[in-house]
Amino acid sequence: MKDAPLYLRPRVDPPLASLLGDAPFLHSLVDALGSPLNVLLPEVVAENAERFRSVYRRHHLAGRVYFAHKANRSSALVRRLAACDPAAVGIDVASLEELRHALSCGFTGDRVMATGPKDAEFLWLAARTGATVNVDSLAELDQLAETVRQYALPRTDVLVRLSGFESETGPGGAGTRVLSRRSRFGTPVAEADRLWTALERHADSLELVGLAYHLDTTGLEEKGRALERCVLLMDECRARGLAPRAVDIGGGFGVGYVEDAGEWERWTTALSEAVLGTRPPLTWRGHGYGLRNEAGTVRGSAALYPAHRPTAGPGYLDALLTGPAPVLGRTPATLLLEHLHDLYVEPGRALVDQCGLSLARVLEVRPLDGDPGRFLVRLGMNAGDVSLEEHGVLVDPVLLPRRGAPDDSADGGPVGVHLVGNLCLEADLITRRLVFLPRTPRPGDLLAFVNTAGYVMDFHAHHAQRQPSARTVAVTDEGGTRRWCPDENYWPLTHPQGASA
Ligand SMILES: *Cc1c(COP(=O)(O)O)cnc(C)c1O
Repeated sequence: MKDAPLYLRPRVDPPLASLLGDAPFLHSLVDALGSPLNVLLPEVVAENAERFRSVYRRHHLAGRVYFAHKANRSSALVRRLAACDPAAVGIDVASLEELRHALSCGFTGDRVMATGPKDAEFLWLAARTGATVNVDSLAELDQLAETVRQYALPRTDVLVRLSGFESETGPGGAGTRVLSRRSRFGTPVAEADRLWTALERHADSLELVGLAYHLDTTGLEEKGRALERCVLLMDECRARGLAPRAVDIGGGFGVGYVEDAGEWERWTTALSEAVLGTRPPLTWRGHGYGLRNEAGTVRGSAALYPAHRPTAGPGYLDALLTGPAPVLGRTPATLLLEHLHDLYVEPGRALVDQCGLSLARVLEVRPLDGDPGRFLVRLGMNAGDVSLEEHGVLVDPVLLPRRGAPDDSADGGPVGVHLVGNLCLEADLITRRLVFLPRTPRPGDLLAFVNTAGYVMDFHAHHAQRQPSARTVAVTDEGGTRRWCPDENYWPLTHPQGASA
């Protein structure tokens, strides 16, 4: 070994840990179904929804948790959520096909929220089935009202998505007014008046049920201020005879991928040192993840997901609700309660936290030319199959040896490897980071990428070079027996139909 291994070991909660502990089961799945393979635990998505609900209960709040479907294509996850309490759990769909999928998985239209960019067919089916439409712009509002009138559809519930919130910065909160980060979505708050006028004009076909935002930030402060602003705007709406009753604060509650804060600190510090050249590179060809060396000083900002997060998911929602609301002087939870407003949330990544993993077979282990002690490890998957790098998520895979207990001493202990994919392409690296494994892998071993259900396992999967894209299976526990079936065969029944182990 050249230097101490810089691990970024994953956070693994009990259901997923138990699955990972059953290496023979996972090997038999990949033997049968090929590499790569996605494995989902549908029960965990229901447990996560329940954790969000418990935050609602703690604050005596009403409203729904809408799963942002775009985070994962799976049917099993959507069907399992459809089986949850209809008053508590809904689904947020962002395309015509996601809407069709949600309906076919058991969601009735009244539990569906249609967000994102919308075409005419998507608007029609949403209005036809009684979904709530989260309207992005004034033009979309007019288009929806016209659709409802032209096709004699039922009066449709709408939320309007707002953006361009102002916030105060600087010491004492009395500094300059700045806008939240620019977004291509939503109607700027400054144009809200035109929205209210349009909603009055369309009162025969549309009913305003609430205001929405989804901010691309982890900042609690910015989100708290937006919530406060929505509450104030809803007072404005009421004064005009509109009756919105829900605040939809979007998604972005986040996931902690790396278990140990110290490992994350050490790795990010080492990245800066490597960029400065005071230690050997930590990445393929010295990639800096957005950092660069300018005359001996590190410049830029690392384009990385904060992989270790002490506060994420339901805990982040709790922190947001109990945080300060500087203008109105009460916590967001109190504000919502006092106004009798419902709270809607749209978690994607956080709702599928710990819901699955992606498996890849080790195909080849080759000593790295000119870098003794390092290896290139080629996997039966490519960067599209686990798009960790695309999302800036840095976390180690778990090595699952083919044969029994590994003999660590015989393999020389920890080793730094570069994980490369199955495409005939220089850029096809599973991650540009040098990954440390507890021992040198062997062909036939599996690498398990843990916690990939949110955006990582299927968002960027493709068929380049006709390489197979991953099959997805759902794993359930039936009275202490682990069972599996293809994702599309899973239904939330006690005796599932379809294949089993
Ligand atoms: C993507 C998205 C979400 C989900 O975001 P996460 O970060 O996965 O929680 C929710 N709402 C909207 C409008 C989105 O675009």
